Amino acid sequence: MKVILDAGHGGFDFGATNKDRKEKNDNLALTLAVGERLEQAGIPVEYTRTQDIYQSPYEKADIANASDADYFISIHRNAADEPGTGSGVETLVFDETSDLMALAEAINQNLEQVGYENLGVFPRPDLVVLNKIKMPSLLIEAGFIDNDKDNEIFERNFNEIASAIADAIIQSNPMAMATVHAPKPVLYRVNVGVFRNEAYAYDLWRELIIKGYPAFIYRKDGYHFVQVGAYHDLKDATNMENRLRQAGYSTYITT
Ligand SMILES: [Zn+2]
Repeated sequence: MKVILDAGHGGFDFGATNKDRKEKNDNLALTLAVGERLEQAGIPVEYTRTQDIYQSPYEKADIANASDADYFISIHRNAADEPGTGSGVETLVFDETSDLMALAEAINQNLEQVGYENLGVFPRPDLVVLNKIKMPSLLIEAGFIDNDKDNEIFERNFNEIASAIADAIIQSNPMAMATVHAPKPVLYRVNVGVFRNEAYAYDLWRELIIKGYPAFIYRKDGYHFVQVGAYHDLKDATNMENRLRQAGYSTYITT
């Protein structure tokens, strides 16, 4: 098992800021602390950066793709559209079918123990570090940098936060995921559109997200499937399909 860690942003890309506080610095400090704990547990770690240097998201993706790591974890801090109005931790994955869903949830739960509100796991198929990286990847938003209360938790519980993330990674087992072919649970998803053209898929995805639907893009065989939700229970998928049909979308349910 090997992990590549990415401290989000860097150099002239500060990320989010709050007075003198820059996201790139919080990200790097936390990333190095998580890496230290993983290495102590015997897990080899690579980093996209260990210094304050600029990398575009595409460069970060190239570094990850050139490594032989089992997965990629990017560490960030969040910011709200209206500064100070957001609080808590969220973890982002490419979509709900990600191999790292369980790890994403474990990280959030561990961070909840440390004092952050658990905002959940969200699909973000538009993020370069999630969609251009070959290995399973996730992105942690470790509290809001524009919220003084979240910064207080970040400072006061810094070591616990680093351990919370590292412990979830140590306890996950990607080698087992890759080699043991456990039957995957069936998930029902509501398909709203299929496109060859990625831009059209993004237009529909964005429209659905703005309307509050848990939409994501699933890629297969050169097609982009715009889908909503992933449900264990067919009834839940049917309810979502009814909502979408009433809103004028033509849909079908798929697994
Ligand atoms: Zn960021």
